[in-house]
Amino acid sequence: MLTPKPISKSKQRIIKFFLSSNPLEFFSRGFFYFLNFTVKYLLQNTNTCSIIDTNTRSIEAKGRCPAMENGILHVDMNNFYASVETLFAPQYANVPMAVAGDQESRHGIILAKNMLAKQMGVKTAEPIWQAKRKCPDLQLVKPHRERYVHYSRLAKEIYSRFTDQVESFSLDECWLDVYGSERLFGDGEAIAHKIRCAVKEELGLTVSVGVSYNKVFAKLGSDYKKPDAVTVFGRAEMESVIWKLPAQALLFVGPHTGKTLEKFGIHTIGDIARMELPAMRRMLGKTGEALWTYANGLDDSPVGVMGTGEPPKTIGNSTTLPHDVTTEEEIRRTLLELAESVASRLRNQGMKAGEVQITVKSGDFQEYQRQCRLEPPVCDARSLYRAALELYRRENRHWAVRLLGLRAGKLVDAAQVQISFFDDADGLEREERLESAVDALRERFGSRSVTHGTTLENRGDSSS
Ligand SMILES: [Mg+2]
Repeated sequence: MLTPKPISKSKQRIIKFFLSSNPLEFFSRGFFYFLNFTVKYLLQNTNTCSIIDTNTRSIEAKGRCPAMENGILHVDMNNFYASVETLFAPQYANVPMAVAGDQESRHGIILAKNMLAKQMGVKTAEPIWQAKRKCPDLQLVKPHRERYVHYSRLAKEIYSRFTDQVESFSLDECWLDVYGSERLFGDGEAIAHKIRCAVKEELGLTVSVGVSYNKVFAKLGSDYKKPDAVTVFGRAEMESVIWKLPAQALLFVGPHTGKTLEKFGIHTIGDIARMELPAMRRMLGKTGEALWTYANGLDDSPVGVMGTGEPPKTIGNSTTLPHDVTTEEEIRRTLLELAESVASRLRNQGMKAGEVQITVKSGDFQEYQRQCRLEPPVCDARSLYRAALELYRRENRHWAVRLLGLRAGKLVDAAQVQISFFDDADGLEREERLESAVDALRERFGSRSVTHGTTLENRGDSSS
């Protein structure tokens, strides 16, 4: 005899649900079941992979989340200064144009140039007279740093739609880690194109994007094809394309390192990669080791996370000296190096400092800190250096110094700083322009291309 099969609890609930005569209960239960179903469905389908997981780079993709090969992007805004200036003065769009500091002076240099000027052979960091000789019709425009800072911020806002891991390398260059963003926006290459189009459409500027699985190759990619382009430099392209590029194309190979490599018959990135690691160490020390790692595609440095919109409160550096220092000359040189590095970081962030602080530690572990206000706020090394040296001299302790630190505080947006009528406005602006030119040189030729300290010392500030 057949016995009726008992109705399961869930079916009972469904029958009860349909028999419910109360319309309010009908809708609220319906909504509850719908929510329940949606959550279960999402959990089953997302498995272990969250939609935006910024740590996925080091975690193997599990479940249905596909593993993305190339999720590191390097975005470089093309001819940045010149392109921004063209937005404000469209008449420069179809003529060779360059942004140059100190145009009245024979010693002014080219800070940036547009494509037409580039085609005429004009180079960044060359003197104006030299550029004019190559291109007599060259139009020169004064730099407007506040405009570059503004557009740099707008671009970063676009990048941050795709990931919160955006690391600024300079005013016009950023790295992005988009490993956690594939579900929303597609793979690295797709995201690169989305960014390229968004920047073009919304800002009227072009970018070139390198896409890879590490920061060094991504940077190589953005340099490879310009303007308005996307280049994928993954593992597949390492031997066939990347290794054939000149060694100087690799990040941090400046002219000096380039020459050393040449001397040993190392011409391409592949030549570096095929060297024995101990030989590279003997040749260039830690730099050699780093270059070997980069050339073999083994760079695993993470992309930093952009702040939550909060600008930094202070920017500082300190250095432990190789031996206890007693002479003021060495103190001056160290303070100058610290001031240059802090000033460069300030300019990179588009900020000025309203205060400078020094930290001094002695060989027998005594320590003091002193600070003073800077009015108006500054972002040039000379002003920071002078204030820091003044603070040091005022103490007059004659210590054997072990550690020196310099910190810029009370930071404000550079674009908002008004230089008052009574300040040495010309002098400060000239200094900032000059140091921005040095930034441009360092960006182009490597951080060691302009030797720390000597320029400022030579301008007679060491004894002020
Ligand atoms: Mg650029």
